[in-house]
Amino acid sequence: MTDPRPRQVLAAIPAYRPGRPALDESHKLSSNENPFPPLPGVVERAAAGLARMNRYPDPGVTALGEALAERHGLSTDHFAFGTGSVSVLFGLLDAWCGPGDEVVYPWRSFEAYPIAVDLPGATSVRVPLTADHRHDLPAMADAITERTKVVLVCTPNNPTGPVVTEAEFEEFMARVPTTVLVVVDEAYVEFVRDPDALAGAAALARHANVVVLRTFSKAYGLAGLRIGYSMAHPAITEAIRKALPPFGVTDIAQAAALASLEAQAELEERVEAVVAERTRVFDALREQGWDVPSSHANFVWLPLGERSAEFAEHAHPISVRPFPGGVRVTIGTPEINDAFLARAAAFRR
Ligand SMILES: *Cc1c(COP(=O)(O)O)cnc(C)c1O
Repeated sequence: MTDPRPRQVLAAIPAYRPGRPALDESHKLSSNENPFPPLPGVVERAAAGLARMNRYPDPGVTALGEALAERHGLSTDHFAFGTGSVSVLFGLLDAWCGPGDEVVYPWRSFEAYPIAVDLPGATSVRVPLTADHRHDLPAMADAITERTKVVLVCTPNNPTGPVVTEAEFEEFMARVPTTVLVVVDEAYVEFVRDPDALAGAAALARHANVVVLRTFSKAYGLAGLRIGYSMAHPAITEAIRKALPPFGVTDIAQAAALASLEAQAELEERVEAVVAERTRVFDALREQGWDVPSSHANFVWLPLGERSAEFAEHAHPISVRPFPGGVRVTIGTPEINDAFLARAAAFRR
């Protein structure tokens, strides 16, 4: 008689361990959340959905699909919705990969990627970032073999911040077989201010094998409601939809996302405020002598090498996110950003 055992791949996946808690929510600069409350009208519209919680939600996420289709000039069969874009990525990799298949992605990048690749039994092929913390797209193209099913591109890259440029991406795509799916993760696209940056939606029009991932968790401030989506050709979208758990997106989340889309002017104002704070924090860190890469997301990266954990401890009661190699710090309110800058200045290097 033996204990029930999960699949062997689970042994390699780390269990979630919460970090040291922040003093309060405003001091939490560890998860790239939006420091602003939900946009005007969003709580009211979401609350209207609460009264229907005895019913299953709309499985097609129809109204939101129509709103996004109009916004992007695409038909609704280009959109798959899930409980955050991470969940859409899990479904996509489940639909495309099994044991023996390879997924190429930059590293360091988003910490959900290795888990999403491991779970279906596929193999991670990690391509190190360049010395300036950017995707090494030529090396990623070199890493593609006949076993490669999917390539992940994260722009801006979490946790380091730089974007992939359109020119770099096109050079890369010229070397990628059309049978390989290229996922462009644009979780932070609203914060991008580089005119040369890749625009995933435009890339979709040029390449039938591109999938764009978007989320309402970051700029739109709906992280707690769990809603994100993919944009891709209808045949790809259909496969992703099949692989996602049914009824994942609640009517509450759909209503909140719709109301957020309608509050476009206020959204832009808030994103602008975060971008202004990002610039201020970046400049101040450079002034302090930190070698910070230029970020187009709502966070900055301190390449601390071996001293990441030490810095995270030093930053307390502000919580930041240490990784091997560096620390990621979310842009928060101006007051907390100032408090963080003071901790950074006081760190003995
Ligand atoms: C936050 C994030 C996402 C989206 O997360 P969800 O909350 O699941 O939508 C996706 N990719 C990256 C790189 C992120 O940082």
